[in-house]
Amino acid sequence: MLKVGINGYGTIGKRVADAVAAQPDMTVCGVAKASPDFGADGAVRRGYPLYSARDDRVNAFREAGYELAGTSDDLIAESEVVVDAAPGGIGAENLPRYEAAGVPAIVQGKESDDLVETSFNARANFEDAEGADAVRVVSCNTTGLSRLVAPLEENYGVEKVRATLVRRGGDPDQTGRGPINDILPDPIAVPSHHGPDVNTIFPELSIDTMGLKVPATLMHMHSLNIELGSDPSSEELRELLGGESRVFVVGDDFSIDGTGKLREFARDRGRPRGDLWENCVWGESITVKDSELYMFQAIHQESDVIPENVDAIRAMTGLADKEESMRITDEALGIGL
Ligand code: NAD
Repeated sequence: MLKVGINGYGTIGKRVADAVAAQPDMTVCGVAKASPDFGADGAVRRGYPLYSARDDRVNAFREAGYELAGTSDDLIAESEVVVDAAPGGIGAENLPRYEAAGVPAIVQGKESDDLVETSFNARANFEDAEGADAVRVVSCNTTGLSRLVAPLEENYGVEKVRATLVRRGGDPDQTGRGPINDILPDPIAVPSHHGPDVNTIFPELSIDTMGLKVPATLMHMHSLNIELGSDPSSEELRELLGGESRVFVVGDDFSIDGTGKLREFARDRGRPRGDLWENCVWGESITVKDSELYMFQAIHQESDVIPENVDAIRAMTGLADKEESMRITDEALGIGL
């Protein structure tokens, strides 16, 4: 069993830990947190050895009654791979520590592509991470876009992507984020940074993106126009996307009219934390007119990158090839709605 340490145990880190623990070929050797809050309680209840992410917080954990296995340096020494899910920017500071310890590491979407050997999306470029020591799993929105572009490229060619990303103001636990009652072009400058981020996975792709921020916490919504290299029918597109394990084509019969019902559906299915690891594409919205594809998809920002982190671990360590890794991950988590 490959020993995986999780440095940063918040929204992403705690989900990565549970996903790793569910795999047959890897185990969580510990998680590091910066504060002794309810997340630390959750880690202990799940049986993960708890480490203090910062040396100066050791006493705070002890005073709160937690038994620590050590600090993040100890966790790094204990790990065969580290998944860094610390707040944006801290992953970049941590990378030299992983390198010095000779431990391969994965950082998350906020970190710069320049710092790693490759940015990663399992469906699109698994092989680029094979044997790499530093990999970045791209952000939730870039993951959602890459999962679409890959099958479209393979089957029809993609001339140009135009995407408007309607983004949640914050995650449900980010009580300080907004807007509360507004709609913000974010960023106002066009195009947004999301298109160039997709280019870290598809360097040749022509893509422009615009962003908006709205008072919502549940999911992001993408409104997409994609010029294809040929002119398939809308039905053919529905079938193609329906055959992708990490794309859920929402059927008309489900009467799911928005992100609230999507998350309720996930809870009804018994998904942990109501997570939706798949892109959620409304089948009815998939429309092709004169080789241009129009569609809406919702992206669960807290969870779509989780299976990607698991696959990145296998790619870097050679535990499995792309097809096998994605199959094992999907089966272990129950992905594929
Ligand atoms: P978060 O704030 O929920 O969690 C961060 C965790 O890191 C917390 O447990 C905190 O205690 C810990 N931490 C703080 N300082 C640390 C340090 N010095 N070393 C190690 N850990 C430290 O953040 P998040 O939302 O999970 O985001 C983590 C990364 O994942 C970011 O790069 C973010 O851009 C990316 N990401 C977030 C989302 C999302 O929607 N939340 C989606 C995709 C990618």
